[in-house]
Amino acid sequence: MDIRIGQGYDSHRFAGEGPLRLGTLDVDYPQGFAAHSDGDVVLHAITDAILGALAAGDIGDHFPDTDPQFKGASSDQFLRHAISLAAAAGYHVGNLDVTILAEAPKLSPHKKPMAEAIAALLGADVSRISIKAKTNETMGFVGRREGIAVMATVLLV
Ligand code: MG
Repeated sequence: MDIRIGQGYDSHRFAGEGPLRLGTLDVDYPQGFAAHSDGDVVLHAITDAILGALAAGDIGDHFPDTDPQFKGASSDQFLRHAISLAAAAGYHVGNLDVTILAEAPKLSPHKKPMAEAIAALLGADVSRISIKAKTNETMGFVGRREGIAVMATVLLV
């Protein structure tokens, strides 16, 4: 069996008004994200993990943030593009493991609906999608509530 692993990372700075677009959900928060697209840092990390598994570059290669057509773009399309590349190469998602680093907002109530929404986008059973959330113990930019960072690992089979 041919399997491929990929890892992705992204971080976005809080700016402007909420809600926060996170893992396709609109999470209630006083601030949103500074970003060229809708700023969905969770979907960006997952997209990069899939592109990494395929050795197909990174999200900036496929969707340059200098391109006006992606201004305010829904990040669903980035993930759909990556998963279509995977499918064209004969792969589907074996499992996905995501860690969200956020001092705020509290994400525990959102983990399950986020996993369900991402599973639907990926065409995977929700039992294969893990969403974990933790604080950074008040350290660094996450700890100072300047933004959110996300790490994602995906296995393509
Ligand atoms: Mg990003």
